[in-house]
Amino acid sequence: MDHLDAEVVVIGSGMGGSTTALALARRGVDVLVVERGERLPREPENWSPRAVFIDRRYKPAETWEDLHGKAFHPGVHYVVGGNTKVYGASLPRFRVSDFEQTRHLEGTSPAWPFSYADLEPYYGQAESTYAVHGTTGEDPTEPWRSTPYPYAALPHEPYVRHLADRLRVAGVHPSSTSIGVDLRDGGSCIRCRTCDGFPCKVGAKSDAETCALDPALATGNARIATGLKVKRLLTDGTGRRVVAAVASTRDGAEVRVTGRRFVLSAGSANSAALLLASADDHHPDGLANSSGQVGRNFMMHNNAHIACIDLDGPNDVVFQKTLAVTDWYEDGGDGHPLGSLQTLGKVQGVMMKSYATAVPLPVLDQVAKRSVEWLVMAEDLPDPDNRVTLSPRGAIRTTRVARGTRQHAILLKRTKRLMRRAGYDVVATQPFDISMNSHMCGTVVAGTDPGTSVLDGHCKAHDLANLWVVDGSFFPSSAAMNPALTIAAQALRVVADSDLAG
Ligand SMILES: Cc1cc2nc3c(=O)[nH]c(=O)nc-3n(C[C@H](O)[C@H](O)[C@H](O)COP(=O)(O)OP(=O)(O)OC[C@H]3O[C@@H](n4cnc5c(N)ncnc54)[C@H](O)[C@@H]3O)c2cc1C
Repeated sequence: MDHLDAEVVVIGSGMGGSTTALALARRGVDVLVVERGERLPREPENWSPRAVFIDRRYKPAETWEDLHGKAFHPGVHYVVGGNTKVYGASLPRFRVSDFEQTRHLEGTSPAWPFSYADLEPYYGQAESTYAVHGTTGEDPTEPWRSTPYPYAALPHEPYVRHLADRLRVAGVHPSSTSIGVDLRDGGSCIRCRTCDGFPCKVGAKSDAETCALDPALATGNARIATGLKVKRLLTDGTGRRVVAAVASTRDGAEVRVTGRRFVLSAGSANSAALLLASADDHHPDGLANSSGQVGRNFMMHNNAHIACIDLDGPNDVVFQKTLAVTDWYEDGGDGHPLGSLQTLGKVQGVMMKSYATAVPLPVLDQVAKRSVEWLVMAEDLPDPDNRVTLSPRGAIRTTRVARGTRQHAILLKRTKRLMRRAGYDVVATQPFDISMNSHMCGTVVAGTDPGTSVLDGHCKAHDLANLWVVDGSFFPSSAAMNPALTIAAQALRVVADSDLAG
C-alpha cells in the first residue's frame, strides 16, 4: 500500500478545501490536499452548452438515491476545484439576520454558533481572495462591512440596465450582483455567455482552483494528490484522534494518508457519507456522530428558475448575471422572510432542452431570444429527518422533503406579479428537483451543544481532537443567498482562529 503524509491533510479541493489549504499554506503549514477528481481540462467543450448540459461531460457517472430509492444524477463535479469550476461565481455575503434565530412562516431558522460580526473580517478577506466585484448603497438588506469591495460592480449591459429601470418603476430596489470574475483593469474575463454553469476556458472565473488551490501550491507548502478517493477515516486506540485516511486510486490501489490534523471538505453529501462510512468500535454510528446528527439537516434551498418572456422585446444580452432583488429577503410584508432573486447567466435554447425535452429546439431558441432568466431562492429550513445516509450498496441516499415551500410559493407568486408589472408577457417556471442540489448544505452542522450538533463554532468535531469539517456541511441553516463566499470566509476564520494551523 502506498503511503502519503502531511502535517494537515485536507480531503476535497472545492471551496472549503482549497480555501483552507491556501490559508494554511500561507502560514507555513505543510498541507496535502487529497482530491478524488483530476484537473478539468481547458478544451472547446468547456463552452459547449450541449456538451455541458445535455451530455453532462463534467459530471460523474455516479448516481445517488432519492427518498424513494430511485437513482438520480446529482449536481456535483468531482474535479479539482469541485463545484466551483462550474459555479456562477455570484458571491454575496449572508445577511446579519441569517446568523440569528429567525421566525419563518413554517418554522424557525436556528442561530449560528457565531455572529455576522465574527465572520465579517473574513468575508473581506474572502472577497479579496476571490476577486469579488460589487457595490454598496443599492441593496436594501446589505450587511455592514469594514472593507470595501476589492473591485467595482460589473456594469449592466443595456438590456439589464433597462430591466433594472423597469423593476424600479414596478416598485423594488434592484442591486448589482456581487460576482467573482477577472474583470479588473487588464483582467482576463471576456464577458462571455458561457460562465454560469460552465467551466471557464480562459481561467477568468474566481473558482477555488484558480484563486485558492494554485496560489496555495505556489507557496511551496501545499501539495495535491489527485485521483484519490478517500473511503474512510481511521482513529487511534483511544478513538479521539484521526490517524489516517484510507483512499483508493482509480484502478483500485489503496493509499494510506497519515497526518497530525485532518480537514474534511468533500462537500455536504460526501462529507457526511464519509463520516458514516468510518464507523468503528469507538464510533459505532459513524465518526463524530455521538449526537446522531451526522447526515441530518440536509438542505439545498428552495429554488426555481423562471424565464420571463417579453414578446416584443428581444434580449441581446451577453453577460446577464449582474442584477439581484432582495427587497423581500428579511420581510415579505408580514414580518416573515421570503428570499432573493438574481438574474442567471443567459440561458440558451439548447440548455432549456435538458428539461423541456418535448419542446422542439427552434421553439426554445425563439423563447431564449426574448427571455430573461432569474433564480428565485428561498430558505430551506433544517429538518433532522432530511438526511444523507448510505444505501445498502454504499451509495449516497438523500431523504428530503423540502421545508419552507409555502414561503417559496409566495415568493414565486410575488416575483411573477413583479415581472408582469415590469412588462413581461409570460413567466415560465422550472422548480428544482433533488438532482439540482447545487447549493446543498447542512449534514454536519456546527453548534454550541454537542448533543445537537457535530461541530463547534470553528468547525472542529466535538468528538475528536484533530478533525475539522470545512465545507457547506457546517451550515446550521441555508439562508437564501448563494453559499460559496460564506464557506470561504469560514475556512479563513477557522485557520486564523482555531488550533488547526498548529
Ligand atoms: C452549476 C452550479 C452553479 C453554482 N453557482 C453558485 C454561485 O453562483 N454562487 C455560489 O455561492 N455557489 C454556487 N454554487 C454552489 C457552490 O459551487 C458550492 O456551494 C460550493 O462549491 C460548495 O463548496 P464545498 O467545499 O462544500 O464543496 P465542493 O466545492 O463541491 O468541493 C468538494 C470537493 O470534494 C471532492 N471529494 C468529494 N468526495 C471526496 C472523497 N471521498 N475523496 C476525495 N475528494 C472528494 C470533490 O471532488 C470536490 O472537489 C453553484 C454550484 C453549481 C453546481
